[in-house]
Amino acid sequence: MDKVTRTDEQWREQLTPEEYAVLRQAGTEAPFTGEYTDTKTEGVYRCRACGAELFRSDAKFESHCGWPSFYQPSESDAVVLIEDRSLGTTRTEVRCAACNSHLGHVFAGEGYDVPTDQRWCINSVSLHLEPAGPSGSSGPSGSSGPAAP
Ligand SMILES: [Zn+2]
Repeated sequence: MDKVTRTDEQWREQLTPEEYAVLRQAGTEAPFTGEYTDTKTEGVYRCRACGAELFRSDAKFESHCGWPSFYQPSESDAVVLIEDRSLGTTRTEVRCAACNSHLGHVFAGEGYDVPTDQRWCINSVSLHLEPAGPSGSSGPSGSSGPAAP
C-alpha cells in the first residue's frame, strides 16, 4: 500500500478545521451529528484525508451508538490498530494505514448480531462515501430496461 505523508501544515491546508481535529488530532465528532451515521447507501467508504478504501457499505450495521458502525474493514491491512489509554480505560484506536489519520475506535464482544462481534465506531468526518455506480455497467450499453432474470 502506498503511504501518504504530509506535513502538519499541508494537512491543515487540505482539511477543514473539523476534519483536521478528528483525523489529525484524534478528536471525536458529536454523536448523531455525522453525515453517515444512518446512511444505507451502497458503496465504498474511503479515508477523507487520503482516499484509501477503508470500509464497505455491506459491513455497516445499525448500532444506534451515534456514529457510523461497521463490523469489519474492507481489508485487514487498510487500517492499523493502536492501544489508546487516553480516557483511563483501554480502547483500541483505528487509524488509516496509508496516512495514519485517526478514524475512530473498535470495540469487541458487545453482543451485536454481526459476524465478527466487533463494532468499528468511525467518525463520519473521517470518511468519504463513494456510492456504488449504477448496476449493470458490464451489460449491454444503452439498455435501461430491467435485466432479465
Ligand atoms: Zn488515509
